[in-house]
Amino acid sequence: MTYINPFEVALKQLEIVAKEIDLNEDFHERLKHMERIMIVSIPIRMDTGKLKIFQGYRVQHSTIRGPAKGGIRYDLGVNLDEVKALSMWMTWKTSLLKLPLGGAKGGVQVNPNELSHGELERLSRRYAVEILNIIGPTKDIPAPDMNTDAQTMAWIMDTYSMFKGETTPGVVTGKPVEIGGSLGRTRATGMGLFFIAKSITKKLGLNLSEMKVVVQGFGKVGKVIAEELYNFGCKIICVCDITAGVYSESGLNIHELAEWVSMGNNLKDYEGTTGELIPSIDVLTLDCDILVPAATENQITKKNADKIKTKIVLEGANGPTTPEADEILNSKGIVVVPDILANSGGVLVSYFEYIQDINAYFWDIDRINQELGKVLQRTFEEVYKISQERKISLRTAAYIIAVSGVAKALELRGLYP
Ligand code: GLU
Repeated sequence: MTYINPFEVALKQLEIVAKEIDLNEDFHERLKHMERIMIVSIPIRMDTGKLKIFQGYRVQHSTIRGPAKGGIRYDLGVNLDEVKALSMWMTWKTSLLKLPLGGAKGGVQVNPNELSHGELERLSRRYAVEILNIIGPTKDIPAPDMNTDAQTMAWIMDTYSMFKGETTPGVVTGKPVEIGGSLGRTRATGMGLFFIAKSITKKLGLNLSEMKVVVQGFGKVGKVIAEELYNFGCKIICVCDITAGVYSESGLNIHELAEWVSMGNNLKDYEGTTGELIPSIDVLTLDCDILVPAATENQITKKNADKIKTKIVLEGANGPTTPEADEILNSKGIVVVPDILANSGGVLVSYFEYIQDINAYFWDIDRINQELGKVLQRTFEEVYKISQERKISLRTAAYIIAVSGVAKALELRGLYP
């Protein structure tokens, strides 16, 4: 497969919207650049006694609307251009939701499955120390992303707090609830996707419970959306992880599959009552009503977009569709609900966590779900309306709101000095 640079994709998306809104040239130029890039090496004593060095990044694309916000991923594929793209996408996501936050992302180039628990802890703590000066509750607030979780956040929070000499829950979101995390954060991205799935099917006059669904990725995001749709009555005909897809035309038993992976198993070894194994690569082109790419970037490209047979693409991952593929899907009448809207439930509940930490007052799950629904509903309606009025894709409509919000902040704040 030819490598597609996610940062070039991100710049292209910005260029499309810049034309659409006649974006001031200076603002466009500023937004093409990252405010701050930090590249660190992370030396770790492995369990064998040997020293190993990992490369880490923290990139802040924009703090013009507030402290930078965005996850940290652990993956072998992490590189600077990927983190830059992800960071820019966070700026758009927080602006679209009108949160008083900017955009950032971090990553470490590592295969976390090859590390022991102790090695992972040392890696997370040393990475936290290396980026310590540029993060903080009023500067930049990391969160989980691919292959990181509440435990990772707890280590980062503890390390930061030890250095500062005071417990600082607000330095990260996605923490365990016992140390200042928010109820509902773990499932938030998937819950947000589910919410958006309800809104979009309603607009299109489709009955969600009758939909045939394919989910690519069965991790923190894919598993939750599969479970929610399954409980709602949808037929989930295929799910996959990096090792294999599991397929059944009459519908899979998602609870069984979720239990299988929760025991640490891969789907390629799945021995359940429903489904046959298929290669992961074939999953995206199965005939379905809703396709949820919830794995990683650049999955739907000009190479396979033509073969996609679905009514709706609901982007659980960040950047799963390239601009060329977008055009092909649009021309086929496939509705793409863009990542910055579809998967924004995660950062939204992160924001709720951040304000709960500031106030040291915690909400119950009903309030979380209610506020989540309220903001997503408002944002969805806003995006949908612009896309109808201007006869443009939901992505371009979402980008219009997001980029205009950032441009307005650039205008109001002016240029220092
Ligand atoms: N990593 C998630 C995302 O890509 C969440 C970021 C956050 O909560 O700050 O949106």
